[in-house]
Amino acid sequence: MSSYVIQTPPVVSIPVAGGGQFPVRRVYCIGRNYAAHAIEMGHDPNRESPFFFQKNPDNLDPSGEFPYPAHSSDVHHEVELVVALKSGGTNIPVENALDHVWGYAVSLDMTRRDLQGEAKKLGRPWEIGKAFERSGPVGALKPASEVGHPDHGRIELKVNGEVKQEGDMNQMIWKVPEMISYLSEYFELAPGDIIMSGTPSGVGPVSKGDTMEASIEGLGSLTVKVV
Ligand code: MN
Repeated sequence: MSSYVIQTPPVVSIPVAGGGQFPVRRVYCIGRNYAAHAIEMGHDPNRESPFFFQKNPDNLDPSGEFPYPAHSSDVHHEVELVVALKSGGTNIPVENALDHVWGYAVSLDMTRRDLQGEAKKLGRPWEIGKAFERSGPVGALKPASEVGHPDHGRIELKVNGEVKQEGDMNQMIWKVPEMISYLSEYFELAPGDIIMSGTPSGVGPVSKGDTMEASIEGLGSLTVKVV
């Protein structure tokens, strides 16, 4: 075995409710997966092929604090259901896709909307708007063996106690098994992969001092302070 020539980076992991850690390999995020959000962003809500971008594994942050990032004055909240995979592969059929899911969590896909908008306009990649430090606040994972596979139920985000985003997971354009199947045609999925499954309508800006409370029926809530 060769020796590493620099200090090895830590294994990224997210906490599991009741104890333990789930190690993270990759983070896939789907865009515009709720029709009402596609419309509010100025897009056609009809079902066309899904598209994905990625965050970095170490962008996930269970700390409950979100430091307002540099170089943006329009940072938005997006509440999302996290799907965590215990196994993977390629060309996974929709019918078997849920067999690969270990569990679920509540998360936020924090977005530097101004930088993302500029990137879209210029035909550039989205990382600068999406994959920045601590851009993925995440709650504790709950195992599917306990919570099942949520395909409906309320998904909501409050800022300072006021409801800003609300929807139902049954409004997802691409359902969780379809997302897994589609991704597995283009990537080799593996244990530790995370999918952020899109946000309902009502995205909007946050400011330092705000408290965000994200909740998903059956999974509990995640409170994050903007600092
Ligand atoms: Mn998102």
